[in-house]
Amino acid sequence: MNYDYLVVGAGFFGAVFAYEANRRGKRCLVVDKRPHIGGNCYTETVEEIHVHKYGAHIFHTSDREIWDFVNRFASFNNYINSPIANYKGEIYNLPFNMNTFSKLWGIATPAEARAKIDTQRGDAPANPTNLEEQALSLVGRDIYEKLVKGYTEKQWGCDCTDLPAFIIQRLPVRFTYDNNYFNDRFQGIPEGGYTPIFDQLLAGIDLRLNCDYLAHREELRPLAERMIYTGPIDQYFGYRFGPLQFRSLRFDTQVLEESNFQGNAVVNYTDRETPFTRIIEHKHFAFGTQPKTVVTREYPADWQIGAEPYYTVNDAPNNALYQQYAALAAQDPSVIFGGRLGEYKYYDMDKVIASSLKLILQELD
Ligand SMILES: Cc1cc2nc3c(=O)[nH]c(=O)nc-3n(C[C@H](O)[C@H](O)[C@H](O)COP(=O)(O)OP(=O)(O)OC[C@H]3O[C@@H](n4cnc5c(N)ncnc54)[C@H](O)[C@@H]3O)c2cc1C
Repeated sequence: MNYDYLVVGAGFFGAVFAYEANRRGKRCLVVDKRPHIGGNCYTETVEEIHVHKYGAHIFHTSDREIWDFVNRFASFNNYINSPIANYKGEIYNLPFNMNTFSKLWGIATPAEARAKIDTQRGDAPANPTNLEEQALSLVGRDIYEKLVKGYTEKQWGCDCTDLPAFIIQRLPVRFTYDNNYFNDRFQGIPEGGYTPIFDQLLAGIDLRLNCDYLAHREELRPLAERMIYTGPIDQYFGYRFGPLQFRSLRFDTQVLEESNFQGNAVVNYTDRETPFTRIIEHKHFAFGTQPKTVVTREYPADWQIGAEPYYTVNDAPNNALYQQYAALAAQDPSVIFGGRLGEYKYYDMDKVIASSLKLILQELD
């Protein structure tokens, strides 16, 4: 055996694990099928702008330990995520707050906003049977029609009346003039983009890029006693029980010969007719002043085997299917599945780092 650990996937889960294991004197080999490190958090530099290649990534956490951990590898700026919604040319602040309500109804006080929402919620059925009824019961008709319906239908590729109510458990409504999307204590974007964090995490660790584990299994598996696997768990087992469902995305990125296209990093298009869900203008994550700008339109897409898996579909049938794969995985304790694809669950960056650090404690402390 040449290594203590073979780590498949150089995203946050794999890279943090390899970094911490390496610090404890363990030899690791990290492989990733992509031509770069960083997983979905990878940023590349275009026109001196850090472009979030796999979708906008804003770091936010309330966990002081995780915040201190990432700050060892980067300086974070003071970016605060304040997306706006464009509904057929009308502009609204998100998340739903007093600025949104004032624009929607011309009101000024929290009491007026509450009264308006309460009246509109009054029409909704008492026991919601689908996402539309659920949303109406939470925020009422105007917010639902202009800011929830079209966006959600594009994301899921079907009507809100055909979606289960559980997808939207809560639609946070804020009765203050506060456009900060996240409630977390700490928030920001790493000043050099995300990729330099991964350069540091993986410094001095053997790395093979453009290397699909599944295509090199016979060669790679014998190299290490234990393996951390952060690719899709169903694919690892040859889809034995059938594929787990995902939603995919298509990104259309353009360099524009102007310095400021939309005045904000994130603009959501909340009508159903516009085919993309949002436009990201990357420079605004870092208060950029470059002469050009880079924008990315994000199109939701159906997923099938071979497409890039982005969002897990954690409904009851898929969760049950995942449990079958997890039971199969438990039969070989030398392979540990981790991260969003290995555990088939949506993880924010802080949570995936915390989960990787927890595994280190279980494995090596
Ligand atoms: C569109 C989008 C936006 C997001 N925005 C945010 C945000 O704003 N804030 C936030 O906190 N989180 C955000 N996230 C979540 C964030 O992307 C994840 O927390 C993080 O990427 C999870 O890290 P990971 O290591 O589990 O997975 P990944 O980053 O996906 O890494 C897995 C790696 O495994 C590799 N791999 C897979 N199979 C194989 C194989 N067979 N052989 C070799 N390599 C393989 C892949 O190439 C990949 O590099 C967002 C996610 C998405 C999809």
